[in-house]
Amino acid sequence: MNQKAIGYEIIARDGEARSGVIRTRRGNIETPVFMPVGTLGTVKGTRFEALESAELDARIILGNTYHLWLRPGAETIRECGGLHRFIGWERALLTDSGGFQVWSLGALRKIMEEGTEFRSHVDGSLRFLSPEVSMQVQAALGSDIVMVFDECVRGDASREEARESMLLTARWAERSRLEFDVLQKEGMDTGHIDERELPIDARLNGAQALFGIVQGAAHLDLRRESLERTAEIGFDGYAIGGLSVGEEKSVMYGVVEEIAPLMPSDCPRYLMGVGTPEDLVECVARGLDMFDCVLPTRNGRTGQAFTSRGKLNIKNAQWVRDQRPLDERCACSVCRRHSRAFLRHLYMTGEMLASILLTHHNLAFFLDTMRSVRQAIRSGDFTRFRREFLAGVSSGVA
Ligand SMILES: [Zn+2]
Repeated sequence: MNQKAIGYEIIARDGEARSGVIRTRRGNIETPVFMPVGTLGTVKGTRFEALESAELDARIILGNTYHLWLRPGAETIRECGGLHRFIGWERALLTDSGGFQVWSLGALRKIMEEGTEFRSHVDGSLRFLSPEVSMQVQAALGSDIVMVFDECVRGDASREEARESMLLTARWAERSRLEFDVLQKEGMDTGHIDERELPIDARLNGAQALFGIVQGAAHLDLRRESLERTAEIGFDGYAIGGLSVGEEKSVMYGVVEEIAPLMPSDCPRYLMGVGTPEDLVECVARGLDMFDCVLPTRNGRTGQAFTSRGKLNIKNAQWVRDQRPLDERCACSVCRRHSRAFLRHLYMTGEMLASILLTHHNLAFFLDTMRSVRQAIRSGDFTRFRREFLAGVSSGVA
């Protein structure tokens, strides 16, 4: 039967850019796709109805293993029937492995062969995260796409340091794979769907999918070696990790340009934690399919809107009496109804609706940009789209 956890089918290509469909046990995801980040099981400032609405139509969101493991805890979520049921979201979920979050704790953590020991940022208690624990927690969460437990390394790490870290990631990938397979056999995945309840033509087995992660900092030979080692183990999809951690933009584009075309072409390719709207379009052009980033939500809360003419800071005094919407080319419900003047007033008076509305517009802008990207690739018009989009976002808001 050759049934898999997910399917991926390419519908159109334009240069290195691809557009296709990822079939998951919780619905289809058109690619390239932007995945809003729901760190603690919530895309901050956004109701799930809005995410599901035709306006946003987010097909997949992220949850963070590290944060959910600490609060409310894996066992609590398991007892509540898994993350989908706990948060009230029936569409697809991807969880990261916690590796990046633990690594970001800096002095608070100690990395060993066995795993990472760290102090919880919540209560200071000593905790231990390993490939096995990460897979166990992600099984309890029941996400549809699970990420292997990896180690990050500073963007400016020496070759030696980066190679050691990359090899550790490769060993952890193997341990993640082994533990993941055991947990699937033991029925520990709370998000499991009986394959008889899935559409027959989807040919899915109802299990979780597991993605491998390519590391190696800015060293292209290490990145290639990491990809080879990861592909050899075999995963349902492949991600590039360890970018957007403070390196120069040219380094990120360089790694993506070198590695993306070498990634297995019949699987989804995911760039973790990236990025701005320009980054998304530029990395689609280099062959990537999936992206996640906190920018639309986090920046929305700090008064920044993303628009077709670049970033708009709602705090600026120039908008005090400005009757225009955030983005005159945006058709979202915020832009249809409210002016920059009103949004600025809400923000300056500390009204919570300011964050909610700016977040909504930003998510609409990111998701709509990806819809346009897919459309452009499918109509063979991506080169022109990319040129005009980049010219637009760098032209400046007036
Ligand atoms: Zn808008």
